[in-house]
Amino acid sequence: MTKAEPSRTAIVRRARRINRELAAMYPDAHCELDFTTPLELLVATILSAQTTDKGVNKITPVLFARYRTAADYASADREDIEKIILSTGFFRAKTTAIIGLGQALCDKFGGEVPHRMKDLVTLPGVGRKTANVVLGNAFGVPGITVDTHFSRLARRFKWTAETDPVKIEHEVGSLFPRSEWTMLSHRLIWHGRRVCHSRKPACGACGVAALCPSYGEGPVDPVLARRLVKSGPFS
Ligand code: SF4
Repeated sequence: MTKAEPSRTAIVRRARRINRELAAMYPDAHCELDFTTPLELLVATILSAQTTDKGVNKITPVLFARYRTAADYASADREDIEKIILSTGFFRAKTTAIIGLGQALCDKFGGEVPHRMKDLVTLPGVGRKTANVVLGNAFGVPGITVDTHFSRLARRFKWTAETDPVKIEHEVGSLFPRSEWTMLSHRLIWHGRRVCHSRKPACGACGVAALCPSYGEGPVDPVLARRLVKSGPFS
């Protein structure tokens, strides 16, 4: 006899319990990119593609000291930016994106970062993921950030079977109150970076093991699992 699928109510209840456990485990979960303004966060998020937040945080103090406004980026010298952001990888494409971003902000939004999803996604280099990071962390508008960690954990928790980030965002969002979306994103990303890794999740040392339908996907032996846990900070 096959096991019956859990009801929608059971899925929602378990999802919210996992979120509460993660909140207790990571009371300090936050965006690990350093920023002081929406523009800085937008630029840092664009730079964080295919690299670590730590790597971005190393170079942004110099970049942000030299480029303070959208107009500064719009009129930037390409080579100067390329030199500063070189270590973040894909530096030519990222330079094109942030200069284009400065120009678009000046042309369409009076040099200010807009705080609506539909405006943010019109900017060069800005997709829904980046827009949600900015909305949630610079403007306090709830947003779900579907990065590689979030997608993997949402699937391991069986909150979704989707692989498309927009579908994941909507499906997971429907399990939680909007007010939880931003912090839920931070918690999943923190847990993914520290414990629930892509190749070898540290199941035997995981604080939500009792609630996780994928328990056993990684080593369950506590000693082995503890060795897999990475400690932050990652910024
Ligand atoms: S039990 Fe394993 S698969 Fe589930 S969240 Fe923890 S580390 Fe990830």
